[in-house]
Amino acid sequence: MTPDRACILGWLQRAAQALHEQRDYLTSLDSAIGDADHGFNMDRGFTAVLAKLPTVAEADIGTILKTVGATLVSTVGGASGPLYGTAFLRAGTALADKQELTPAEAIAGLEAALEGIMARGHAQRGEKTMIDTLGPAIDTLKAAVAARRPFAAALAEAANAADAAALATIPLLATKGRASYLGERSVGHQDPGATSMALFFRAMLSGK
Ligand code: ADP
Ligand code: MG
Repeated sequence: MTPDRACILGWLQRAAQALHEQRDYLTSLDSAIGDADHGFNMDRGFTAVLAKLPTVAEADIGTILKTVGATLVSTVGGASGPLYGTAFLRAGTALADKQELTPAEAIAGLEAALEGIMARGHAQRGEKTMIDTLGPAIDTLKAAVAARRPFAAALAEAANAADAAALATIPLLATKGRASYLGERSVGHQDPGATSMALFFRAMLSGK
């Protein structure tokens, strides 16, 4: 399996659908340790992304991803808009002019996204943010690819790791973002951004 432009477009469509379906769940997570808008923010952003996709239907992968990033930055308020926006912009820059991706290139795109989020939000792993899903999911994907697993199987392992990583944010203390205002009271709740990040990995599996 070599992800090509059509795979990327399909992934974005499945991600948009998952974010729409999980909007209320993500918002309920954010109501516990934030301001109850994460599901709304992500759904609004990806509804705008879906409307933009026809304009890049013939474009290379880098352009598609950069268009997603710019759309998120301009349509999503809150912390998650600039953070996810930066992630897609950085991945798009890393994958400029690509029509399809080797596993190494796909990993490079994800690593560029992670670096972008970390640079923009000044967070490290363990601070109860979306980074706590993206980091471990990339680690798992890299290990699976290094072990010569077929790429589809490696992505499935990464999606499972992402789900587990989102759950693993429950005992963490939030030290970045709105949840950090709660201090110790942030402990015992699953991070909304870590949860939406896991949806992006699940959406990489076509399932059919
Ligand atoms: P806001 O917090 O502005 O209401 P959202 O509710 O849409 O924005 O997104 C909240 C999520 O953003 C958090 O659950 C967390 O995962 C993520 N987040 C917040 N601050 C940071 C940061 N500095 N670095 C990485 N992720 C962050
Ligand atoms: Mg919020």
